[in-house]
Amino acid sequence: MLTAATATSQAFIDLEAKYGAHNYHPLPIVIERGQGVWVWDPDGNRYMDCLAAYSALNQGYNHPRIMEAARKQIDAGITLTSRAFYNTHLGNFLKLVSEVTGHDRVLPMNTGAEAVESSIKLARRWGYWKKGVPHDKAEIIVFDGNFHGRTTTIVGFSSDDSYRDGFGPFTPGFKLVEFGDLEAFEKAITENTVAILIEPIQAEGGILIPPRGYLKAMEQICRENNILFMADEIQTGLGRTGKMFALEHENVRPDVFMLAKAISGGFMPVSVVTANEEVMEVFTPGSHGSTYGGNPLGAVVAHEALSVIIEENLPRRAAEMGEYFVGNLRRIDSPHVKEIRARGMLVGVEINGENGNARPFCEALKEKGILAKETHESVIRFAPPLVITQDEIDWALERIEQVLTVEAPV
Ligand SMILES: *Cc1c(COP(=O)(O)O)cnc(C)c1O
Repeated sequence: MLTAATATSQAFIDLEAKYGAHNYHPLPIVIERGQGVWVWDPDGNRYMDCLAAYSALNQGYNHPRIMEAARKQIDAGITLTSRAFYNTHLGNFLKLVSEVTGHDRVLPMNTGAEAVESSIKLARRWGYWKKGVPHDKAEIIVFDGNFHGRTTTIVGFSSDDSYRDGFGPFTPGFKLVEFGDLEAFEKAITENTVAILIEPIQAEGGILIPPRGYLKAMEQICRENNILFMADEIQTGLGRTGKMFALEHENVRPDVFMLAKAISGGFMPVSVVTANEEVMEVFTPGSHGSTYGGNPLGAVVAHEALSVIIEENLPRRAAEMGEYFVGNLRRIDSPHVKEIRARGMLVGVEINGENGNARPFCEALKEKGILAKETHESVIRFAPPLVITQDEIDWALERIEQVLTVEAPV
């Protein structure tokens, strides 16, 4: 067995490549340990992580409070009870999520994709039982450029061929419309429309922010047509955009939230679906479930991780540090930058077409000690842990400027 004490980064890369399915194309960096915004490889090199596991690590690596809570729960000797029985931690976690979201019922699951799948089931059953949509006719409206996970149903309504190709036949009942286009949405509504499933900002789509007022208008149209507004805030929620939820920027109250990623601070998969009772009550005993969903270790970890977001006021930090970072990023005079799109600490730098794609810039940033990942070929995403300090941002800006100007790789 390889261990970091004796093996190099390259040995770990080779081992993964030899035995793993090749469904990712990682940057050639091996992370052995982390602290705050920093990670180290087995060769002793230090990097600043500006991806933060797609915003799962908003609280930073090795957060002492979450680490302690996890340790205590493991020491207590109970990590999984299944929902066949109650446990002494799940209720506390559900209560906190209810307080944060303002929804009175919370469904615990594990991954983000499971939360999305659960929401789809919730919306369909609500449509049949409460709205009176004819059996098997429910339609859910989704949006071009969406990313909601990787199950067969979810990739079936993706507009990205690389997510879909070869995985059909797909689940019917979804209608794709242009993101940001109100008229297209209104045209797509029928009497069988039960819900919209939307990301307030399309993060995987390339940090795409819809026009101001769009989401508020969507909320209004949903109310008028008795359609559930289901918000996938798995990446944008929990502080990332400078508010607890990205929808708060437009004062929108969704009927359903999906949360995952940062809800457990990078410790283990925990996700939730939240809604008010008149929607959630369509889930009855036996109609939905998950073996690990609501497990006591996950409940303890996520309770602490969510408490850290609240008590360290990470949404405000994201707003302040994001403004500082983006303000300075915009001052960099680079021929390679086409556009910068940002909300809070969710930042996309779109690279000019003529200058190739974003990947070589990410590789050059890695050489300087900054880990960032391209999204949708042409966009560099900067989304560091929200505990980042101004000094750390200055350190990053200096190197980003070098890569985007002097030493541009293409
Ligand atoms: C990451 C993500 C998901 C899927 O979460 P997994 O835990 O990877 O299944 C769904 N929606 C959005 C917006 C995401 O960013």
